[in-house]
Formats: sequence, structure tokens, C-alpha cells
Amino acid sequence: MPFLIVSDIHGNREALEAVVDDARGRYDRVVCLGDLAGYGADPNFTVEWARTNVTAIVRGNHDKVCAGLEPVTSFRPAARAAAEWTQNALTVENRAYLERLPRGPLPYEGFDLVHGSPLNEDDYLLTMADLHTIRNEIETPLSFFGHTHLQGGFLIARGSVKTIDLHLALELEANYRYLVNPGSVGQPRDGDPRAAYAVYRAEDHVVEFRRVAYDTFAAGEKIRAAGLPDSLASRLLTGV
Ligand code: ZN
Repeated sequence: MPFLIVSDIHGNREALEAVVDDARGRYDRVVCLGDLAGYGADPNFTVEWARTNVTAIVRGNHDKVCAGLEPVTSFRPAARAAAEWTQNALTVENRAYLERLPRGPLPYEGFDLVHGSPLNEDDYLLTMADLHTIRNEIETPLSFFGHTHLQGGFLIARGSVKTIDLHLALELEANYRYLVNPGSVGQPRDGDPRAAYAVYRAEDHVVEFRRVAYDTFAAGEKIRAAGLPDSLASRLLTGV
């Protein structure tokens, strides 16, 4: 069964719609690695899309703060302003949905969903050093993670760690353990402003990394019109 893997949508309707369009016909089920809300101007749209379409999902750090489970003071100023705005914008039902989202890791159909790290939902898996710290504690053959907004990830082979080559469809090999990041739909930070996602074809043991251009200007204008920090709009244009 093919899965659409999305993460870090962050209230960006234009990016989400472009991903769904681009992925049409390529998947049967949708899984999400958290951060539906925060930063973008359409949190109700992205949460309602998840409520209707997602079959497995874990919470992200922004979901927790936007749902009031953690204080906004844990965030830096731009994220904090966006979280406070989102708390007011969310409908009661959508806020309750965020509040009930499960903490990862969530085992699902032979793989795990996590937001940050398999050991701690709020940790960032950014560098080889981060992986060396945890490599002996990873037992699941395949985990999908988000949080860093960087498409790619790592594989652990006989105790050593390698980064995943984004240029090829990733063919999963037995005996390796994979930590795969589909990238961020709504706020990429790897220098490519296109929305990022992945398709996992379980029967072929293949993960395909995909990017799709969307109207970053329109999404940014909504952020400005909402009175949110300008940096949250301008970073969509550059993908950093
Ligand atoms: Zn995020």
C-alpha cells in the first residue's frame, strides 16, 4: 500500500493543496508527523484536512502549544506570536483535535511515526552527531520523523550512520534502520522553497522524496494580513 507522508504543514493552505494535487493517484493513505498549525494563516483549513484525510498522526511541538498543552513562553518571539494568534483563530473543535493528538512514536503498518526523535518528541535530528548519540537505541527498521523541516534523513548500517541521498528513490534494505524525513510541507528550511513530502510504497520498499512549487507569495500575504511577523512570510519565498 502506498502512503503519503506529510509533516510540518504549519497552517499553510496553499502548500498543502499543491502537495495533495501533486500526489494525487500516488497513495492510498495519509500519515502526518505533526505540526499542523503554527506560523501559517490557515490553521483551521490544515487541521480540518487532517481530521478528514489522515489515518495516522502524531502531535508536534507547535500543536501542543497551539492547543494550550504547553506555555507559549517556550517559543522564540515569531513562533510565540504565531502560536498566540493561532490559539485565537482555531475553532473549539480544531483546538480539541490538536489537544488529543497522540505523542510519538506511534507504530503504524510496520513503521513508526515520530515528530522529533524516537527518544523524545521534542528533540531535533539534524546532524550525524545527533544520530551517533541514539543509534544503538533505534530498533524499528523504519521511522518517519519531522520537526527539522529538512528533507532527507539517516540510515544506520551495522552501527555506522549515513545520510540519505535525496537524488534517488530510497530503496530500503533489510538489516538497515532508517530514519526518514519527508521535509516540511508548509515551511521548508533547506533552501528550496517548494513544498516537501514523501511517498512510501511499502510493497516495493521504496521511499520517494518529492517537491512541488506553490504560491509562496499568496501564503505570505495572508501571514502579513493576519498581522503575523513579516519574517514568517518572507522565509517562505527563500525556503530558509
Ligand atoms: Zn515544525
